Amino acid sequence: MRLIIMGPPGAGKGTQATFIATTWGIPAISTGDIFRANLAQGTPLGLEARGYMEAGEYVPDSVTNSMVRNRLLEADTTPGFLLDGYPRTLAQVAELDSMLADAGQHLDCVVVLTVDAEEIVQRLLARAVKEGRADDTEEVIRRRQEVYAEQTEPLIEVYRERRLLCEVDGMGEVDEVTSRISDALTQVSEA
Ligand code: AMP
Repeated sequence: MRLIIMGPPGAGKGTQATFIATTWGIPAISTGDIFRANLAQGTPLGLEARGYMEAGEYVPDSVTNSMVRNRLLEADTTPGFLLDGYPRTLAQVAELDSMLADAGQHLDCVVVLTVDAEEIVQRLLARAVKEGRADDTEEVIRRRQEVYAEQTEPLIEVYRERRLLCEVDGMGEVDEVTSRISDALTQVSEA
């Protein structure tokens, strides 16, 4: 299975991505996690990404695209993969199309978690206070949602037109959302 999971920041993509990856025996590839690991190790890539991440902006496409292209060449992606947090711009969609075409592959499904944006913002604000995340100010949290709405939400229509979309209600308990995604992907795999 070659999958994408999308949804606004705080929708629970990462949690669900881990579950999907385990169930389907594929790696979950989170561009945010790769950037954070590079940041923690102080690599040139991490240093380049840092300012954008801290401001809630997207890292430039050229940087992100080449990172993903390299990751998808690794052997563990042979049975498939789940992309979490990529693509996030129309230019990244085009680049992913070209990576897949080069490999003679196609996507099976794009899972979109639909959530109540304001409720998510309130949840993220509460978490920032509770966990003492000084960097997660209300301004940055709201900016991330804005950037998602401006740059990433339009991708939903692109994948809808390609008939690849699986929209899943992302509100409720984690287990409930997991079982909705599971049902949707089972349908895709049996189609
Ligand atoms: P995430 O954990 O997926 O929310 O990603 C954390 C941060 O990493 C984002 O706010 C961006 O600054 C950066 N990032 C992750 N994925 C991408 C992407 N596909 N394109 C650009 N920036 C990204």
